[in-house]
Amino acid sequence: MSPANPANSVFDKYETVIGLECHVQLQTNTKLFSPAKNHFGDDPNTNVDLVDAGLPGVLPVINGRAVEFAVRLGLALEGKIREQSVFARKHYFYPDLPKGYQISQSDLPICDGGRLHYALKNGEKRTLRIHHVHMEEDAGKSMHVEGAPVSYLDFNRAGTPLLEVVTEPDLRSAEEAMEAFRALRSVVTYLGICDGNLQEGSMRCDVNVSVRKKGETKFGTRTETKNLNSMRFVGQAIEYEARRQILLLEEGGEVVQETRLWDTNRKESRALRSKEEAHDYRYFPDPDLLPLRVPADRVNNIKQALPELRDAKAERYQTLGLTAYDANVITAEVAIANYFETALKVHSNAKGIANWVINEVLRAGASASKGAEDDESAGVLQLCPIPAQSIAELVKLIDERVITGKIAKTIFEQMVANPARSPADLVKEGGFVVERDVGALKAIIANVIAENAGEVAKWKAGRTNVFGFLMGQIMKQSQGKADPVDAKALLEEALKQI
Ligand code: ADP
Ligand code: MG
Repeated sequence: MSPANPANSVFDKYETVIGLECHVQLQTNTKLFSPAKNHFGDDPNTNVDLVDAGLPGVLPVINGRAVEFAVRLGLALEGKIREQSVFARKHYFYPDLPKGYQISQSDLPICDGGRLHYALKNGEKRTLRIHHVHMEEDAGKSMHVEGAPVSYLDFNRAGTPLLEVVTEPDLRSAEEAMEAFRALRSVVTYLGICDGNLQEGSMRCDVNVSVRKKGETKFGTRTETKNLNSMRFVGQAIEYEARRQILLLEEGGEVVQETRLWDTNRKESRALRSKEEAHDYRYFPDPDLLPLRVPADRVNNIKQALPELRDAKAERYQTLGLTAYDANVITAEVAIANYFETALKVHSNAKGIANWVINEVLRAGASASKGAEDDESAGVLQLCPIPAQSIAELVKLIDERVITGKIAKTIFEQMVANPARSPADLVKEGGFVVERDVGALKAIIANVIAENAGEVAKWKAGRTNVFGFLMGQIMKQSQGKADPVDAKALLEEALKQI
């Protein structure tokens, strides 16, 4: 829908309005109301308690950790934590919902209001108002195995704690929605409440989309496309839906309020149910659960202990000598920021470590995860398996002039193949220690000067960039072991005498 394309001009008459409902799976040890393990990827139906199976007569017990996580997110989003919130039963029939209702929050959610700060690709800052955040349990999973005569049910996910973040319809483009979703992922991963693993469904997003003529103040009728588990799908589903609605309106049709499903393969959505068919969930307060009380002093304690979020970290890293670009890359994932900080504890050269993380560790991580480009993890930076301590030791060896940067690259490649090896051992074994023998270095320099008389003459004539070439020759002849500082001083001295 590029505005530059005249063929698309009909689309330019419209504005897209988007609101998100994002589900965040909490990384608690146990479920929201049962002691069963909350863990992805285990054998089907191995993490199921009687409560999750919906057996009659069993009672739910709220998970305090999940409440703490909800408060963390509410506070991080600058929302108001409700001292007393209420769990309600949301009724619907589906085979993966054994109780016949989902425990959720409706009228009195744990957090009201709030704001999410995010930035567009061009750096422009935006704020998205949050309507509320509520707690709820996840349902199980139906498994439709190809060729099987029946569908299977896996209840491992049943009862997993979720937070649902509902935004105001403030977003106006697919890009804004994608960046807002990305920012929310950053907040929850920095808070340590969610692993942010989109492929495993740790975050899922429903997009509400409507369109209206530019200048119009009333919102149009919206549809909701459910269960998108990547930034890319969020963007594609919005683009598709806005286009569909505009074409429909231009034909004189009307948008029907409905729920739609995104088909990731066909890159299109189809209607699931209309508002007329919408469920009456018959919400009512769950009589098995007391109202949830979170006293102000508890909220305060959680507030005091809130971890540093991305923007604050990025700013602090710049005070350590990182550029804005470095800080942005290092904080792109909380795992990278943690890696960086672990390395800093071993060796305090922040800029040096940042360079190695950005140029080598992330590059090696990206090539290890090649082929994943087309899946939901696309764009997520990956670390390589070398421990942070080893990278710090490697940078320290360079800074202490035990090895050269060039040798360090060789050592790094050896560590990529063998992440458990210590850089100091590899240096010793490979005989990579820098050449400290001034006599030997002088001999190499004399040799380089003799072999490159033409280049030396150019240097004498004022072509200063030849110096780098000569340094390169020295490094080559010393097999990368010449100390660059010594070599530079000795080469300068030698050239002056010519
Ligand atoms: P409901 O209570 O029917 O689910 P809400 O008013 O709670 O509806 O809105 C649900 C989501 O839909 C919110 O994220 C909200 O921002 C978004 N939304 C509401 N109206 C519109 C609209 N006209 N266009 C796009 N999004 C909308
Ligand atoms: Mg809703």
